[in-house]
Amino acid sequence: VTCLWGKSARRAAQIGVLALAALAWPGGASAGAGAHTPLYPAGMACGKISSPFGDLRDLDGSRRKAPHTGIDLGNHGDVVIAPARGTLVAIWAVHHPWGRDWNLLMRHTTQDLNLPTRPVVYYSEFDHLQRKDIPPFEPGQTLAQGTPIGIVRHPANAPRFRAEVHLEVYEIPLQDLSDTTWHNDHGFRYWWNDAAKLIDPLTMMGHHMTQGQGKGVAPAMFQPGKTRPDFPGFVYPLACGET
Ligand SMILES: [Zn+2]
Repeated sequence: VTCLWGKSARRAAQIGVLALAALAWPGGASAGAGAHTPLYPAGMACGKISSPFGDLRDLDGSRRKAPHTGIDLGNHGDVVIAPARGTLVAIWAVHHPWGRDWNLLMRHTTQDLNLPTRPVVYYSEFDHLQRKDIPPFEPGQTLAQGTPIGIVRHPANAPRFRAEVHLEVYEIPLQDLSDTTWHNDHGFRYWWNDAAKLIDPLTMMGHHMTQGQGKGVAPAMFQPGKTRPDFPGFVYPLACGET
């Protein structure tokens, strides 16, 4: 298994159900086809999405037990950035049977995202980071869009796994946010909120596009000093630079 999504089997099953409930599932086919096809700029200087949201096929060609709960992206050494302004919620170590890595969780309000005001917040969780690559952030700290938050590494720093960062995005009604709880299942730490709705991270990267503009989502690449302060939604969560 090479998609090291990293959640416990129990949570995988729960999330699989959530994912199925949240999407019109296209008959077991990859959800990467259709509305959420990524359209990349020419000469992009960083890794693409290696496994889309909802994908049932793993990177090694094997079939996943549950639809992919996020996207895997990047090449080894790519810089992971905050895709939008937000608040740092937590950085924590996760012990898997195959090794240890670190996760980082951010919270974004609709104001942070320059989206129409709604009583929801978004959680973005980045998995398979390494502690030494994460700056010394404090929980509650505001991170600006484009802030480096880690580096794409091999999960658990084990070269037998393809390098990737796994990103999950959840929408949570503001009124339910205080129900978020943290758990530790034999060293596997995770947060849980019954009201959290899993969404395709690529959806968050399409808010800057006008309706009818092409058939896919063209993520905007973050460029220091060039991204508008009112940019809506997420930029691509890697610092791609220019080629
Ligand atoms: Zn993944």
